[in-house]
Amino acid sequence: MLRPILKYGAPALHQPAEPVPAITPEIDRLIDDMIETMYAAPGVGLAAPQVGVGLRVFVVDVSVGRDSGSLIVMVNPRFVVREGTQIEEEGCLSVPGFEATVLRPARVVVRGLDRDGSEHEREGTGLLARAFQHEMDHLDGQVFVDRLRGLRRDMIVRKIKKLTRAGKW
Ligand SMILES: [Zn+2]
Repeated sequence: MLRPILKYGAPALHQPAEPVPAITPEIDRLIDDMIETMYAAPGVGLAAPQVGVGLRVFVVDVSVGRDSGSLIVMVNPRFVVREGTQIEEEGCLSVPGFEATVLRPARVVVRGLDRDGSEHEREGTGLLARAFQHEMDHLDGQVFVDRLRGLRRDMIVRKIKKLTRAGKW
């Protein structure tokens, strides 16, 4: 089932998510819905707070469904390694229409639970490292706009406020 994606400004996007206590049928359904919603968007990643669920779950697929082996589900993830830096353009399904260059780690290793409850670890470089950090930020109540500084951030926030006032956000 597709779930509506919340936009920047929605309270669920700006507060830290809670750990998942157990993989229940409800969590399993949430994961199914998140995968479906991510592919439909389409996007390379989606975190539970983006669909209004304050739990530490994200899904990532840098192939956007083209390669069946690249779907990654992470429940209660944490960083094991974060190193180097990269600066690339980045966007977010919760901030449609805006992109900005964001400083991210070049390589990360994330450990968490798979959807069957088993522990797994995934390494990411390049786009995957960026996606992991982007989704982890969502679990901590951070949107990429919050990582920007100065004029670029002010401009995006101002435009979003304007769109919100006009009922177009
Ligand atoms: Zn995002």
